[in-house]
Amino acid sequence: MFPYLDPLKKTRLVTPGPTQIDERTRQAMDSPAEYHRSPEFSRLVKETRDLLSTLFGSELRPILLSSSGTGAMEASLACVTSEKDAILVVSGGKFGERWSQLGQSFGCHVTELRIPYGEAPTADQMLEKIKSKNFRAIFLQACETSTGCYFNIESLIPDLRKEYTGWIVVDAVSSLCAHPMKMEKWGIDVVLSGSQKGLGVHPGLSFVALSPRVLTSFSKRHRFYFDLGREYEDQEKGAPSFTPPTSLIRGLHASLTAIHEAGIDQVLDFHARVASGVREGIKKIGLATFCKSNFSNSVTSFRVPDGLDGKCLLKDLQDRYGFVFAGGQGELRGQIIRMAHLGFFDRFDCIESLAALEFVLHDHRYPMQLGSGVGAFMQHMAKAS
Ligand SMILES: *Cc1c(COP(=O)(O)O)cnc(C)c1O
Repeated sequence: MFPYLDPLKKTRLVTPGPTQIDERTRQAMDSPAEYHRSPEFSRLVKETRDLLSTLFGSELRPILLSSSGTGAMEASLACVTSEKDAILVVSGGKFGERWSQLGQSFGCHVTELRIPYGEAPTADQMLEKIKSKNFRAIFLQACETSTGCYFNIESLIPDLRKEYTGWIVVDAVSSLCAHPMKMEKWGIDVVLSGSQKGLGVHPGLSFVALSPRVLTSFSKRHRFYFDLGREYEDQEKGAPSFTPPTSLIRGLHASLTAIHEAGIDQVLDFHARVASGVREGIKKIGLATFCKSNFSNSVTSFRVPDGLDGKCLLKDLQDRYGFVFAGGQGELRGQIIRMAHLGFFDRFDCIESLAALEFVLHDHRYPMQLGSGVGAFMQHMAKAS
């Protein structure tokens, strides 16, 4: 039979969310029912938010919300805009497009700065747009997960701040824990993220960090559940306004503790190193990365080689080898494959993923040397820093 398959294979997730769950986090989530108004749970919420604060580089403690990342996007947009406000959206992929859809649903006048898929906005492009209109708020991603492109916000935002004083809202769902975030230092008003990406917790929790000036100037829109002002006050007093997903918060606390113990800088440095190693592996296999520069440390996307069927490669990766890679979304469907290196994993997880990719390409008679990508990655990781 061709190819030879492992009869008792495992399933391995290489998607850019949900990501793998560390054993410590998994055990913390397997918790008995508990009362969310107890002093003990209040302490857990406070500690968790303190740990998040360091990760976000925020002056104020981030708010925990019971929703996926999109819920935090919606809560943020609704809290800083009113109907008919002019807003600017950077749109370079599926998640940028989501900002536009949200803005339109909430009655804003949306101007898009459209960036070709796989590219990042420049400060000049953004400053030119900013001059054209008085925008209430700017919305962008730190990492556009659908293309694997990082928007270099550590230089972009300070450059914008020289000319722009309105709200800046950054979706850091897939960049948190893989790229630095210093919202206070860089001048960002709202940063949001979610549990199932860099933090390696089951989906269902999201976080919004606010700057002090945004906390006192929310829009007058009607809202109830996602009222960030009330939620912030209640969480400062020790408990979310409504029943929170207690087990997920236990998991988040365990993940954050592990990250802080390892050292945030060490974790960020590791993601950068692994991401460049994966790109070297991909190139050695003979594949082309989808982005030409501005690579994300969270996910690497590469083009499906001419003559091969992207859908079929993904299916074979899963059915034959148990690896769940992500494909392209929207207009990139069938054209790219995305391999995540986000959250709780080590170099050996990347070696496995590259090996699975090599096996499947070999099955499809793609001309390559088995082990070439894995070898390049190992060489990269073995280099002294
Ligand atoms: C995953 C992700 C989201 C949130 O998606 P949900 O499915 O709502 O959790 C938002 N923005 C980016 C950049 C993401 O990668």
